[in-house]
Amino acid sequence: QIQRALRSLCIPLERLHIMKGHMMQDMCKGLSRQTHAQAKVRMLPTYICSTPNGTEKGNFLVVELCQNQVRTLLVTLYGDGNMSPQMMYKFFDMPEGMMQGEGEALFNFIAQCVSQFLAETTTPEISTSEEFLPLGFVFPFTCQQTQLDKAELLSWSKGFSCSGVVGKDVVQMLQSAINKQEPSHVQVVALMNDTVGTMMTCCTEGRPCEIAVVADKGSNCCFMAEAYLVEMAEETSGRMCVNTEWGCFGDDGTLNDILTPYDVSVDEESCNPGEKRFEKLVGTLYLGEIVRHALIALTAEKALFTGTDTAVLKEKGVFTMQHILDIINNEDGTSDVKRVLEVLGLQPSERDCGRVQQICRAVVGRAATLHAVGLAAILSYMCQTRDMETLMVNVGVEGELYKGYRRFEEILQSVSRLLSPECLATLLPSRDGSGRGAAMVTAVALRLAAQRRAVNEVLGPLRLTHADLEKVQALMRQEMERGLGKNTNATASVRMLPTYVSHTPDGTERGDFLALDLGGTNFRVLVVRVTEEGISMASEIYVIPAAIMQGTGDALFEHIIDCIVDFQTKQNLMTQTLPLGFTFSFPCQQVGLDKALLLTWTKGFTASGCVGQDVVQLLREAAHRKQHSGLRVVALLNDTVGTMMSCGYDDPKCEIGLIVGTGTNACYMEEMRNVGTVEGDQGRMCINMEWGAFGDNGCLDHLFTHFDRVVDETTINPGKQRFEKLISGMYLGEIVRQILLVMTEKQLLFQGRASAKLQTRNIFQTKFLSTIELNGLALRQIRTILNELELDASFEDSVLLREVCQTVSLRAAQLCAAGLAAVVEKMRENRGLERLSVSVGVDGTLYKLHPCFSYNLQKTLKELAPNCDVSFHLSEDGSGKGAALVAAVACRTA
Ligand code: ADP
Ligand code: MG
Repeated sequence: QIQRALRSLCIPLERLHIMKGHMMQDMCKGLSRQTHAQAKVRMLPTYICSTPNGTEKGNFLVVELCQNQVRTLLVTLYGDGNMSPQMMYKFFDMPEGMMQGEGEALFNFIAQCVSQFLAETTTPEISTSEEFLPLGFVFPFTCQQTQLDKAELLSWSKGFSCSGVVGKDVVQMLQSAINKQEPSHVQVVALMNDTVGTMMTCCTEGRPCEIAVVADKGSNCCFMAEAYLVEMAEETSGRMCVNTEWGCFGDDGTLNDILTPYDVSVDEESCNPGEKRFEKLVGTLYLGEIVRHALIALTAEKALFTGTDTAVLKEKGVFTMQHILDIINNEDGTSDVKRVLEVLGLQPSERDCGRVQQICRAVVGRAATLHAVGLAAILSYMCQTRDMETLMVNVGVEGELYKGYRRFEEILQSVSRLLSPECLATLLPSRDGSGRGAAMVTAVALRLAAQRRAVNEVLGPLRLTHADLEKVQALMRQEMERGLGKNTNATASVRMLPTYVSHTPDGTERGDFLALDLGGTNFRVLVVRVTEEGISMASEIYVIPAAIMQGTGDALFEHIIDCIVDFQTKQNLMTQTLPLGFTFSFPCQQVGLDKALLLTWTKGFTASGCVGQDVVQLLREAAHRKQHSGLRVVALLNDTVGTMMSCGYDDPKCEIGLIVGTGTNACYMEEMRNVGTVEGDQGRMCINMEWGAFGDNGCLDHLFTHFDRVVDETTINPGKQRFEKLISGMYLGEIVRQILLVMTEKQLLFQGRASAKLQTRNIFQTKFLSTIELNGLALRQIRTILNELELDASFEDSVLLREVCQTVSLRAAQLCAAGLAAVVEKMRENRGLERLSVSVGVDGTLYKLHPCFSYNLQKTLKELAPNCDVSFHLSEDGSGKGAALVAAVACRTA
């Protein structure tokens, strides 16, 4: 019988694995908004989003509501890595009946304790200080917390039942009571339970502790979860401590198959049968009872205490945890066991003593093992959700079982290691979690609040309100009008260049075309076949050597002809004269579809003798010199126009082109009657806005931040392309880098230490923004980037870094939207429509690859232009396909 009893208390390894899985499932249930209400493992958010980093400093008050007592503490932290906090404390006994009396009286009493404690213990310096004294409130009852300092009591327990408190914000109640006292400069900053405090006390410098296990009368655990997984809290970035309330694990029956008859009896005799099933297997409040029921059963089976009086075993609670500890911690012999049992009034034989010891060991060993299962579930969950292959983490441990049972630590360590081999947990003893820990929570909350203020100060100027964006929209509209006006065009910052493209494709275009693409990342020659079945293309990339880019114009265009000849030869096109469209992505003053004067070179080109010349003519002359007669240049266009045209082939509503890549620009179909710079009033013409230069006349100066000015000053064209420098890929990374430098200087990042690498211009690439902003914090990639930059970043640094990136890319998308809003609203008014439905063809790597840019752009556009339905199409090879289509449309409409 003894063997059977012992076996029933021993859970096989495979069963432990299954339990761990159940625990993980229940944790997910508790975290999810949909299933939270039914979840047994409640996973309550604590709104504690950081652990101490050792810089916490100052005086912190703590008040803890205990059984029949109130404890007050004053903790002084010195910013020395929390190595030597100074503490003073005092217990106050509660008056008789207060636990069941009026809530207001309870809170008034707590407030009196605080004020009396302060009067007795603090130096005049603290008590007369003008600054408020922060207080942490340890309130170990189940609360619905919605902020660090806002928590509604859900239900009393532990013998408390004060009236008028359930459903109220207990922080508010305490603060009101304190405000009635002298001195009243105490401010309740944080509310927490004791588990969280345990985690916080185990953090020392450079060694964050992110899990706490309390193995005491009850059992509980908390850990730092990824905040976005804690769906009950609004916080989505960084981490948040979650109070698992794992004592209720198994209340839905998941633990039924490991329950022994003794456990069932313990539960039936408890004041809350069916509840807290896990806690009743592991809490020291229950272990004595489990042993007692085991002994009763074995006595009945005549396996113990035969022929002696065992009436004492009927008494609930006679077996305390201390008795058990005395019995099991005695390694040699059974004399202590005998003594303990005799004191209880039993008359054990030598054999009885051995057997009782075995039973006690099995019960306590099982409790330790089950703690390990819970810990393993948390370890694996953290490892998975942090996207790590291995997890190294510190675990704070506290409680009677941990302190009293010598093998607890060993079992917790080895069993959790067996169940979660991918994780390495280091157990740290915690001292006075509820007191010192509460001070830490309070201190961390204040540190975070101060940091938040400082971060907002830095990022504030980059955050644009709806009104700011409306103003940008209005300014863009104004500059558009000026650019279109015959007399105002010369001084407008938005050039509004006519393109002589007057129709978008209608899908009836047919034929073979040649296309050139110069001014993007590569120089390409293409042949584009537009047929009934669709568009097919072949292309070749050609290198333009730097010597030619910076040589003479004649040589440049002759080189281009050579490339065309090479391409035509390879494609077997030498005998045909195909119409050619030329995508030339440099600012041009177009005077006809095939006549465009180069205004200025950009992107590293400086070929002489071109500025002010007709680019098409230069190409034709080069062909002539090279005796290439089979060339028919039909159209020259900007890549923005090509983008619009290529999308227009599939969607006739596409009348806008947008580029957000290295630079940014847009074009759209404007009414001829509004284009003051071109003769004629009939029909429409595509206008190449060249909106990157918006603001070059100073009209956006109010938006530019310190960071924008620094970035602008270090470019090759300071003062130029100001709008583009807020938006496009060439600049966003650099803006972020400038912000990081300032934040580091202000000690907000990287512990104030910027690497030499971070000082290097353009080292922070815009593609990093995409990686960093990807949802769910792909931490591994962020770490790779930070390593590349030789930055020593904590988790919180990564979170802040992401916020910086988000702020910069959001502003870029919003400004882009404000520009587009001006365009679509103008088109709507032009056409006298109540609602405009229009499409935008978009190209550019930033738009295409950034995880949030397009979403933010479209969302903001909806807000700014609510009467326009705008859809977006990604252009595929706008400059190649678009060039052919411009040529095709020209041939069709000729
Ligand atoms: P171009 O405008 O010269 O035709 P692209 O459209 O390819 O070139 O855009 C290049 C720009 O896109 C570069 O400035 C680069 O910073 C940016 N970029 C490249 N990869 C990414 C990415 N993954 N996320 C955001 N931006 C990127
Ligand atoms: Mg491009």
